[in-house]
Amino acid sequence: MRMNESERWSDKPEESCGVVGIAGVQAAASYVWYALQALQHRGQESAGIATVKGDDMVVAKGMGLVSEAISLSRVRGISGDMAIGHVRYSTVGASSLENAQPLSGKYLRGSLALAHNGQLLNTDAIRRKMMLEGALFQAQTDSEVLTHLLARPGFGSIEEAMAQAMTELKGSYSLVALDMDRIVAARDPYGNKPLCLGAFKGGWAVASESCVLDVLDARWIRDVEPGEIVTLTPSGIRSVQGVKAERLALCAFEYVYFARPDSVIDGVSVMESRNRMGRILYEEYPVDADVVIPVPDSGIAGALGYAHASGISFDMGLVKNRFVGRTFIKPSQAERLQAVQLKLSVCGSSVEGKKVVLVDDSIVRGTTSRQLIRMVRAHGAKEVHLMVASPPVSYPCYYGIDTASSSELIAATHTRKAIREFIDADSVCHLSLTGLRKSIGESVGVCAACFDGSYPLGFKE
Ligand code: SF4
Repeated sequence: MRMNESERWSDKPEESCGVVGIAGVQAAASYVWYALQALQHRGQESAGIATVKGDDMVVAKGMGLVSEAISLSRVRGISGDMAIGHVRYSTVGASSLENAQPLSGKYLRGSLALAHNGQLLNTDAIRRKMMLEGALFQAQTDSEVLTHLLARPGFGSIEEAMAQAMTELKGSYSLVALDMDRIVAARDPYGNKPLCLGAFKGGWAVASESCVLDVLDARWIRDVEPGEIVTLTPSGIRSVQGVKAERLALCAFEYVYFARPDSVIDGVSVMESRNRMGRILYEEYPVDADVVIPVPDSGIAGALGYAHASGISFDMGLVKNRFVGRTFIKPSQAERLQAVQLKLSVCGSSVEGKKVVLVDDSIVRGTTSRQLIRMVRAHGAKEVHLMVASPPVSYPCYYGIDTASSSELIAATHTRKAIREFIDADSVCHLSLTGLRKSIGESVGVCAACFDGSYPLGFKE
């Protein structure tokens, strides 16, 4: 079951998950707890940690933010030297404790736990086949199919089982799996979701984003390659190519919005790429204005780029209330609009009597932009120009990102003129797809399907 679209209050695409694995460090679970804090922006609905303690596997999971779901004092008391963790935003399967990850269970070779970021495309057929063979499924997620694939008999280790599973799976995945003596991390052959590797305190870490390594005071080693399996044990790491790499198709939205600006993904700084998006946006759409104001937080780097390129002064004219949750549930459109006012307010002196350029990273439904522009005008702005540091989102995502359905995407249902009228801006301009690719750089192949409708990993089977 997928959460009803109208129940989501956010007017942004939502990330599906973040994963982390740590091996070779005592009290690994408590390090994973800190690492999950650094990944909190990738999912706020549930969090979980699985760790090996002696002959046993201990799993702690709960709903909400990491600090609500798992108490640090609980994981501090667990002494094992291997652990994995997960933060979740549900795109497949309801937001419930049974679907919280890591998913875990007992199997022939002991205990197994798994945490997954992404969305698989062919699990319906695999699930049906397994059910016909007698398998029982407890959760509603595609990730549960993964655990069954890894637990199948006939393999000497989970690396072997993982390599076989990767030849059968289609879709987007960066994942970590833990058994009694190792962590296995894998990235799909298109590298659609990020995954990087680091070293610290004589041990090893894999994580969705490099900002985790900074929190752990770990040294970044490299990104996990598309199709690669990296095995982490307390005594070292090893790598095999699980399945042939296809062309890199990393989610372009990682650079636009999802990833933390201090992360470096596939060799490209997120902050620098966002800054370039703003610079190129000015080259494509120069506007005569008095002030450039970002929509915080993800519009800040783009706005700085636009301000630097144009020479127009930069001002933090929108103030964010940091204590309002990012995805709390709002049942009606009216309350959604009220929620924008609760979350963002206008600094009147920054906009009064001025021609304002507002810079946002993306527009999905357009409802937040409309409300923001109304608020800026109410504080006396002479003109309001909305500059969007990514192309129009015209197609839904099938790879684990909640972009809303086509009928809710304003760029899919409105012309550019109609969008401008709906949000009541003096102008609204989007970065071109060429500009986006240029901002990210030639070295990184990206999936840009929600902008151009070309789906590199195919469709759900
Ligand atoms: S369709 Fe869009 S959101 Fe989905 S993976 Fe591709 S770029 Fe990312």
